[in-house]
Amino acid sequence: MTTTQQGLAERIRAVEQRIQAACDRSGRSRQDINVIAVTKYVSLDTARQAVEEGCTHVGENRWQDAKEKWEAIGGAATWHFIGHLQTNKVKDVLGKFAYIHSLDRISLAEELQKKAAASGVTANCFIQVNVSGEESKYGLAPDKLLSFVEEIKTMSALRIVGLMTMAPYEDAEATRPVFRGLRELRDRLNRSGMLAYEVPHLSMGMSNDFEIAIEEGATWVRLGSILVGKE
Ligand SMILES: *Cc1c(COP(=O)(O)O)cnc(C)c1O
Repeated sequence: MTTTQQGLAERIRAVEQRIQAACDRSGRSRQDINVIAVTKYVSLDTARQAVEEGCTHVGENRWQDAKEKWEAIGGAATWHFIGHLQTNKVKDVLGKFAYIHSLDRISLAEELQKKAAASGVTANCFIQVNVSGEESKYGLAPDKLLSFVEEIKTMSALRIVGLMTMAPYEDAEATRPVFRGLRELRDRLNRSGMLAYEVPHLSMGMSNDFEIAIEEGATWVRLGSILVGKE
């Protein structure tokens, strides 16, 4: 085992302990939390090592940067597209990324529907919501969620698996209302009965705030620097 790989294994173990502790504090089961290793800051080599260490869900936020890793690692991991998705990149990511965490506008939904239907695949999507209201963040305004779902619910090649948000980068505890807000939105969406199925997931929590996100109901946490480092 190289030093780097050992360092990586230790990092993963340390994060795992913190996830478990957050589950214990909030009475949640560890099995309900999924971890995405965000590899955008690291080399192909490190990404590959992370997969070997058991991080089988990998997240990237730009296709241009992910391409090399995707081509090398491919089916050894499940791929998550977590960044802003330009409509003209849908053709590149569909079929390669099992989940898209950044559905935030009708034009993107239409393109996903069109391309997914044409190739006979389902586009599993999280709807990105800008709960904090920061201008710098992508995502739907919370009060637009239900009307958005109303517009896309007949797009049969789309499957809405959850909601996603990014909290402001500040004191972790200050992010709690943002995560709670996303959970309440998901519950409201489910209560509305608008979709013929239950929307189970919440993609929320990054390196600086994942424990709070878990306490507030995250089912997918997206961890970059704390888990695989920054090179
Ligand atoms: C980069 C990124 C992450 C991971 O960031 P860290 O703070 O390093 O954990 C998570 N989610 C999204 C959408 C990102 O772009």
